[in-house]
Amino acid sequence: MEEELVDIDILIRKVLSYTPDADIELLKQAHIFSNEAHGTQRRIEGSPFIEHPLAVASILADMKMDVPTIVAGLLHDTIEDTNITAKQIRDRFGKEIAFLVEGLTKLSKIEFSTKEEAQAENFRKMLLAMSEDLRVILIKFADRLHNMRTLQYLPEGKQQRIASETLEIYAPIANRLGIGWVRTELEDLSFKALMPDLYNDLVRKVAKRKEEQESYLREVTSIVTEKLKEEGIPGKVSWRIKHYYGIYQKMQKQEIPFEQVHDVLGLRIITDTKANCYAILGMIHSLWAPVPGRFKDYIGVPKSNMYQSLHTTVIGPGGERVEFQIRTTEMNMIAEHGIASHWRYKEKGKMDEKSDRYISWLRELIQAQRELSDAKDFLDAVKGEVVPEVIYVFTPKGEIKEMPVGSTPVDFAYSIHSEVGNKCVGAKVNGRIVPLRFVLRNGDTVEILTSPTQGPSRDWLKFVVTPRAKGRIKQWIKAEERKQSVELGQKLIEAECRRHDLNLSVLKSEEMQRVLKLLSVSSLEDLFSFIGHGKISAHQVVNKLLPEKPEEEAPVPKAVKPPKEHKGISIKGTDNVLYHTARCCYPIPGDGLIGFVTRGRGVTIHRRDCPNVDRLAFDDARLVDVEWKASPDATSPVKLLIEAVDKPGILASLSSVISSVNVNISNATVNSTEDKKSHITFILEVTDKGQLSGLTQKIAQLEGVLKVSR
Ligand code: MN
Repeated sequence: MEEELVDIDILIRKVLSYTPDADIELLKQAHIFSNEAHGTQRRIEGSPFIEHPLAVASILADMKMDVPTIVAGLLHDTIEDTNITAKQIRDRFGKEIAFLVEGLTKLSKIEFSTKEEAQAENFRKMLLAMSEDLRVILIKFADRLHNMRTLQYLPEGKQQRIASETLEIYAPIANRLGIGWVRTELEDLSFKALMPDLYNDLVRKVAKRKEEQESYLREVTSIVTEKLKEEGIPGKVSWRIKHYYGIYQKMQKQEIPFEQVHDVLGLRIITDTKANCYAILGMIHSLWAPVPGRFKDYIGVPKSNMYQSLHTTVIGPGGERVEFQIRTTEMNMIAEHGIASHWRYKEKGKMDEKSDRYISWLRELIQAQRELSDAKDFLDAVKGEVVPEVIYVFTPKGEIKEMPVGSTPVDFAYSIHSEVGNKCVGAKVNGRIVPLRFVLRNGDTVEILTSPTQGPSRDWLKFVVTPRAKGRIKQWIKAEERKQSVELGQKLIEAECRRHDLNLSVLKSEEMQRVLKLLSVSSLEDLFSFIGHGKISAHQVVNKLLPEKPEEEAPVPKAVKPPKEHKGISIKGTDNVLYHTARCCYPIPGDGLIGFVTRGRGVTIHRRDCPNVDRLAFDDARLVDVEWKASPDATSPVKLLIEAVDKPGILASLSSVISSVNVNISNATVNSTEDKKSHITFILEVTDKGQLSGLTQKIAQLEGVLKVSR
């Protein structure tokens, strides 16, 4: 990781090694141009500035980028830091290079702050730059990598800030773009800057491990090489060492000490064809027993960043675990260079087909940033997306879908289409009905059951894992809450108008417009929604609409008697309000009631004597008078607590009394205490208070019953 000093000749040799017909003159000109532009500027440690653009261009050559990108790397700080203008670069080096340098200049203005909002905003800009031309981002990565390599020259505070930004933003993107070597180097450099003690400790431990295992791994290598020759399979065996941050992450994630990380060192075999990868795997497994559960076929099912390889761990000679990675030269190239390796095969400005997966990831992210207006949600989505662990599941038609580990049928439904997600009511996995929170496994076939009348539930947010599902559910809930609070608000204000004998047309009047202005509310719909949310009370608003009149003893307005045809509650004469009864006090018809306007979920009905009402009363704007609409058939749930002597058959006799009066039991729980008492809790469906008190009396007369209460 030590910084190497690059001069233009070294750079040119590097470029020629993979682009024999590269335009050398252009590279030389760009070098001279940049050198003159930066003039006497120095880097913070005192060296001539040109060393930085040269180093950046050299990193781009390590990524095997095309000549325009290398040239742009040489020029990347000119517009930003010197008098050179974009026009001068365009005149001298053409449109393509000028575009790249300008893109960089825009990006360099982005500073990620620790504040999440600013971070998300900048991330968006980065994504947009990336979607215009990926090469801009690759230059940015090269720039960042060189800055990280020379981080020690910066003041302490700045080091920390840059390192954590690198770890949080740059490394995950590098991972997703498959540029393995850049990602690991960025991670290790950040790790070193952020946690120097831990880092140094790991460096020592890894060196020691290497020393201990060296002769052992050499032995294994020679056995494998020998065997490959015998079988006539081409293959080169080399060692690989897991990068420090990777080891640290594994220790954190599995909560294990360094000593228990077995794959710090491993062997890698590079061969020519896919078929030979499997042949070598078979060979290794015939030499040594594989450790169960450690074989991974990333060739058959590549990782989402297109990483391909076979991984297996075997019990090697002497009972030691040895990890093998087996892959072709091309797969190795992709593992190291990712999207950059595809760049070489592309026609001018066109990506090859394999790059589509990187691009589709980008597109999804950009989509997500449009939909998730909340900066934090967006950042979570971005960070959530970079977890590369995936499973593969099938649609009933046999199409394969990649999903993050932990995905549920709901995630799957949203991955098909947001309408499928929104209408999802159930799922079949491998032909069997499963709950929506079921965690899908690799290879499952998933069929989604939908119903046109269903909508998402807030509870889904507790188990979905994909940002897409989360985003769509939140979006739907927000819209739905808005709709409901607008409806509720309108009903509340209309009822309030009626109480004051105001014609409802007043809501559309000039006068109303004046009130809206007075309350700084921009539309009538917003006003309804505020009332529905309990932010403003209907009473407050209507008061402002009333003609000024002397204070008088206003008689308490009588609630209008509602019609009797169906079940429900009414709020001061308003019908069809969205409501639910509180689970703390289970009010039933006949009880005194009070309603509490919730934030976007309609009205919760409590008994007037419910202890929670006191707690809610702090906000009277949200308390509303409600009353039941009588209905002979409808029932409401009620909780009944019974204390009885703990003896056999008590539950049976209770049940038979309850059903004798035609009351349904929807739930019953029994707890026995040490002093031979039973506490029985029933949830019953009763029509009204009269029915309940009749039943309570009957129960109280039963032998063994000590106490009955709600
Ligand atoms: Mn720079």
